[in-house]
Amino acid sequence: MDKYKNIWVFVELNKNEVKRVTLELLHKGKELAKDLNQKLVAIVIGENNENVIKTISLYGAEEIINVTGKEYAEFSIDAYGNVISKLIEKYSPIAILMSGNNNSKDLSGKLSAKFKIGLVSECVDIFVEENSLVWIRPAFSGKLMTKIKSDKFPQIGTIRTGIFLAGTEDKNNKAKIINEKIETSLDKIRTKILEIINDIGIEKESIDKGSIVVSGGNGVGSKENFEIIYDLAKALGGTVGASKIAVDNGWIDESHQVGITGVIVRPKIYVACGISGAPAHTAGMKDSEIIIAINTDPKAPIFDIANYGIVGDLFAVIPAMIEELNKIKK
Ligand SMILES: Cc1cc2nc3c(=O)[nH]c(=O)nc-3n(C[C@H](O)[C@H](O)[C@H](O)COP(=O)(O)OP(=O)(O)OC[C@H]3O[C@@H](n4cnc5c(N)ncnc54)[C@H](O)[C@@H]3O)c2cc1C
Repeated sequence: MDKYKNIWVFVELNKNEVKRVTLELLHKGKELAKDLNQKLVAIVIGENNENVIKTISLYGAEEIINVTGKEYAEFSIDAYGNVISKLIEKYSPIAILMSGNNNSKDLSGKLSAKFKIGLVSECVDIFVEENSLVWIRPAFSGKLMTKIKSDKFPQIGTIRTGIFLAGTEDKNNKAKIINEKIETSLDKIRTKILEIINDIGIEKESIDKGSIVVSGGNGVGSKENFEIIYDLAKALGGTVGASKIAVDNGWIDESHQVGITGVIVRPKIYVACGISGAPAHTAGMKDSEIIIAINTDPKAPIFDIANYGIVGDLFAVIPAMIEELNKIKK
């Protein structure tokens, strides 16, 4: 490992704004770099990175490798893959943290194939043990968490938004900027973005930001029955979430899925209706301030993390809750 240095974070942008997940990865990356006695390095690729660099520096990067060029105005796997590959060859990082968004997933796969290294996708935790990185991710239908160690470098992990907390601005942090000149000729870029349509993303943001989330699971039973979840959300002034099974059954759009492969939420109140509490679901809501669970099975694992557990049929419990809420409102 001696040849390899530093923890990298690949900076993801949305119209030249740093995405929240990058701030979260910087915070976690700083902790890992400190534990390994290394530096936290951010990789910024774009057309004009001035403002991005300022933000990244405020959020704790010790070094920023900056690559600019017209060909980097929009993400393309060929151009960005070319840049990161060259940087890896030159600097040999220990690990690269990337988001679980499409572009980073694409990029991480390309790098892992090119350098014949492993890739840990959908990590839910990363820490240092005996001077090595340990990556945690779900396995076996989300019932187990696996602990992954690798002796290949660089190690790459993808992490979804909301898994780690973002740090706060540190005005005293002044990152060292390293400008690298790497060009990618246009004939090497095989894709062209014609239009960006923001639809599902907007919905995801909305459950992500809701202070009350009412979620329905397999216990709801059908798309028609899901109306009861909307009714409770409306009575509480909240938004609607769902387990993966509810989404897979087509009862609700996937933008509402809470969990490790959905949205991570931390609302003030989370109401889980007919949800068993599989680790892949709870990883997406366990940090809610108050968890209320309604389930017919008193042994359902959701009760292990619930602040208030109601053992009962959701079709009897929810109407009673709505009735009481309406009385309070009057
Ligand atoms: C790689 C991977 C990623 C995954 N990612 C996610 C994810 O992001 N989010 C996610 O949710 N899951 C995810 N899963 C799936 C996860 O492992 C579980 O299968 C899923 O969360 C179970 O959904 P559920 O609790 O709705 O269903 P079930 O486990 O079937 O639970 C239904 C519950 O409803 C209760 N019930 C039944 N009828 C009633 C009633 N009338 N009133 C009250 N309670 C009732 C039952 O007692 C039961 O506890 C993932 C799995 C894998 C393999």
